[in-house]
Amino acid sequence: MVAVETRMQTTIIILVVAALTGKCFLLRALIPKVWCLDDFELARPLGKGQFGQVYLMRERQSRFVVAMKVVLKSDLLKHNMEHQLRREIDIQSNLRHKHILRLDTFFHDEKRVYLVLEYAPQGELYKRLRKMVKFPEWQASKYIYELATALAYLHRKHVIHRDIKPENLLLGAHGELKISDFGWSVHAPSPSSRRLTFCGTLDYLAPEMVEGRVHSNRVDVWSLGVLCYEFLVGKPPFEGLQEEDRQATYSRIAKVDLDIPETISSEARDLILKLLKYHPDHRLGLERVLLHPWITRHNGTKGSSSSHNRGL
Ligand code: AMP
Repeated sequence: MVAVETRMQTTIIILVVAALTGKCFLLRALIPKVWCLDDFELARPLGKGQFGQVYLMRERQSRFVVAMKVVLKSDLLKHNMEHQLRREIDIQSNLRHKHILRLDTFFHDEKRVYLVLEYAPQGELYKRLRKMVKFPEWQASKYIYELATALAYLHRKHVIHRDIKPENLLLGAHGELKISDFGWSVHAPSPSSRRLTFCGTLDYLAPEMVEGRVHSNRVDVWSLGVLCYEFLVGKPPFEGLQEEDRQATYSRIAKVDLDIPETISSEARDLILKLLKYHPDHRLGLERVLLHPWITRHNGTKGSSSSHNRGL
């Protein structure tokens, strides 16, 4: 009996040592590790954002490649962004969807905070759009479909993204869309917790936001409509005549002053009109977006039973 107990204890010790030293990857995943910068080696810089640099890094033991966002604590303090970063981490680290960029972990040292993110090899959708000017309808439809599945998932988890725009969409290894940047997102568990904060980027803001009224997850549906237009036309729908003319953009959004070019197919036009409704409750629900003919035609799917919808 004593011999059996001793053998079990020895086995447990061996397993724990294997896990802690990284000899067994599976076991290591079970024991939360405190990461530090020395666990990673630099491959190359990926880009610079408003807050900090992003680097391509490789985890030394597994050789796993990640994108690491490095934010200076002094910058966070200077811009009063600590609370926002904390919320971004809390929300993004709890999301698991193939069209949402994963936040695997984070750690910090005296001067910096490090976010360990899924690497999106094809980079920003924004850059692709600027290069191509506009997307063919099949491609725009594919992106809108992927975005709608991810937004439906977020809303089911009571998360509102509130800053959906091309700069916040990255592309995975196969060109699949990944929502990133949850800096403006919020967890709003009940319809009564509708928000008042004015946030996001002007061109993509819903009328209720520009008018300072309470808002719900329907603001993301509006942004989906703005993106649908921009993907097909090459610019967002409510731009002022001059780029810096914010007031003109405000009033065009509030009036839903929309002009859809003749070149856009009637099905795409129909979807855009159903998304860009002044009243949030009149906007098409995300589940119905996935069933819209312009979506099903280009994604070979007939609604939520299709294999394409597994990501939901
Ligand atoms: P951000 O600070 O999020 O604006 O990122 C700055 C730049 O780094 C972006 O313009 C992207 O090109 C790049 N980048 C950020 N995150 C990733 C990622 N997960 N995978 C690949 N590139 C990224």
